[in-house]
Amino acid sequence: MHLLIMGAPGCGKGTCAVELKSFYGIPHISTGEIFRKAISEKTKTGLIAQRYIDQGFLVPDEVTNEIVKERLSEDDCQKGFLLDGFPRNLAQAKALTKILEDLDIKLDAAINLDVKDEIIEKRIVNRRICENCGRGYNLIYLKPKQEGICDVCGAKLYQRKDDTLETIDKRLVVYNTQTKPIITYYKELGILININANQEPHKVVEEIINKVK
Ligand code: ADP
Ligand code: ZN
Repeated sequence: MHLLIMGAPGCGKGTCAVELKSFYGIPHISTGEIFRKAISEKTKTGLIAQRYIDQGFLVPDEVTNEIVKERLSEDDCQKGFLLDGFPRNLAQAKALTKILEDLDIKLDAAINLDVKDEIIEKRIVNRRICENCGRGYNLIYLKPKQEGICDVCGAKLYQRKDDTLETIDKRLVVYNTQTKPIITYYKELGILININANQEPHKVVEEIINKVK
């Protein structure tokens, strides 16, 4: 199963992705996570990416497309993957089409998580992430059993540096102007699946699995 999942920042992509990854037994490839890892390891890519991410801008396409191309060429992606956070503009969507053509891979579905604007801000400022397994929590909607600790692996939870009110507004502008147009791109390719993401995470996952079938 070759899937991609898209939606506004804070729409719950990451949370659903963790569930979908284990349901389908496919690797979860998040460009945001790849960048955060590169930043923490202070690699060359990390240093470039950090300047953009901290300000709520997109990392340049040349950098991002190359990373995705390399990752999707690895062996574990040939049987399937869940791509999360890429593409984020039309140029990236077209680059992905080309990358997949070269790898002889057909995308099965482009899942669009549709969430109301009012919910987004609340989800983002209350978001916490496990530093070990990447699982997402929310201080309002999806609280960890023990404060600051991951239910699943017991590691510490942290707040992303770009999850502040100032940066969120910029990320939403970027989403609305650059990312939204790719919904039409996948609709025209006939593989778009729209999901109501204003509901609880496990309901969202259920809806995705049913519609992908
Ligand atoms: P969210 O979906 O909450 O915005 P992500 O973890 O997907 O979070 O992305 C975090 C940041 O990483 C983005 O705001 C952007 O700066 C950068 N980023 C992630 N994916 C891409 C991409 N495909 N192209 C450019 N920048 C990206
Ligand atoms: Zn964890």
